[in-house]
Amino acid sequence: MEVDKKQLLRNIPKVDRLLESDSISGLMHQYPRSMVLKAINSVLEAYRKKILDGEIFDSDDLSIESVSGKVVDELAVISRHSLREVINATGVIVHTNLGRSILPASAIRRFDLIAGGYSNLEYDLQKGKRGSRYTHVEELLKELTGAEGAMVVNNNAAAVLLCLDTLAKGREVIVSRGELVEIGGSFRIPDVMKKSGARMVEVGTTNKTHLRDYSSAIGPDTALLLKVHRSNFQILGFTKDVSESELVELGREHHIPVMEDLGSGCFVDFSKYGLLKEPTVQEVLSCGVDVVTFSGDKMLGGPQAGIILGREDIINEIKKNQLSRALRIDKLTLCSLEDTLRLYRDEEIAIKEIPTLRMILMKPPELKKKARKLIRMIGPLRSDNFRIELKQGISRVGGGALPLLDLPTTLICLVPLTMSANIIEEWLRNYDPPIIVRVEKEQVMIDVRTVQDREFRTLAGAIRELSDI
Ligand SMILES: *Cc1c(COP(=O)(O)O)cnc(C)c1O
Repeated sequence: MEVDKKQLLRNIPKVDRLLESDSISGLMHQYPRSMVLKAINSVLEAYRKKILDGEIFDSDDLSIESVSGKVVDELAVISRHSLREVINATGVIVHTNLGRSILPASAIRRFDLIAGGYSNLEYDLQKGKRGSRYTHVEELLKELTGAEGAMVVNNNAAAVLLCLDTLAKGREVIVSRGELVEIGGSFRIPDVMKKSGARMVEVGTTNKTHLRDYSSAIGPDTALLLKVHRSNFQILGFTKDVSESELVELGREHHIPVMEDLGSGCFVDFSKYGLLKEPTVQEVLSCGVDVVTFSGDKMLGGPQAGIILGREDIINEIKKNQLSRALRIDKLTLCSLEDTLRLYRDEEIAIKEIPTLRMILMKPPELKKKARKLIRMIGPLRSDNFRIELKQGISRVGGGALPLLDLPTTLICLVPLTMSANIIEEWLRNYDPPIIVRVEKEQVMIDVRTVQDREFRTLAGAIRELSDI
């Protein structure tokens, strides 16, 4: 047995022989030599390991052709970019793990232009002098929301941190126990509060917080009344929340500003389109809330950014805070954010051009049509690996927005026959481009809501290929 292993190990082709082989020497112009060597070593190491584990290889398996073929495959894998495009077939529209919002086409064109050339990022073209990067979206944000002042930073977590640091460092912030949320990826209100140097004063209980809870907690050190959108959960049953208007009234009485972290703020009232009511950014501001923060890449449908709107004097203080330099927004974000915001000047255009809004508002008949189209493109399956069924199901907005909202959709369901749901899921995930699906009750679900038109051909091809193996 041991002798066999030694012989097999000796039969593995040598590095030099592989480097001279036709298929690999042809690649030396395409890849750096170090990378080719890395691929060869990793393939040879895999053979050694398998042989030591007792696997048997015949001389064909260990031929130069066979091993160099493996090296070519390995090179393709290790030379791939790490950040890659994937097909989101999960039906979760603002999927944080999959990059949240897809940018509108016009924003991508701006991105190209600004990324590929110089720009007036911090240059005042009228005065011929240094300008501020924040001016590019400030007026637009004020126009769209009615806010007195506006400022943008890297993301909403940064926006919350910056506001707390500016308004409440070393002092007290009153917040309801029912709103101490944790957003995926370790953003927790109590922790952000600590980082900002503000002291958190929790009031009320998990399910009920009354106005008197806030008012009795107000003291000489109170700097801010904070409201936080629950985002990814709801409290049902015996509950009581204090509305923005009530908090604003209390704040005014005591000359204490009120801040709201809206999480996934949006400009469009979805109840007009038959979906659940969520307060819009404009509505919250018109209640008199002094500072509002929200994400650029959740329901707004733009790039990752944190938007801060509110009272002019407060926004000016925030701009002066040294921390804002560390949290500042980058020019590529800024140009795509400007373009996304411009689309909101006409709501009809916004819901047509902003993919996140378009996907949220897709109607069941359209989704059924999309699902049928995909099935037609897949064509008849030639094996019994799995069969395909259409099913009614639900999509989610995701990104901590409208957590309880069911968006009815049509699912393409791959029902396992000889191939298990987990094998199907893994195979699709390893496809190029990777296809991310949901597995529910041992079935693979493909939700066409989040699959883009240009991806249909690839997706159909992948499913056909999978049924042929
Ligand atoms: C999502 C969210 C955040 C964090 O926003 P990012 O843009 O991811 O930094 C903060 N607060 C609430 C309530 C959220 O929903």
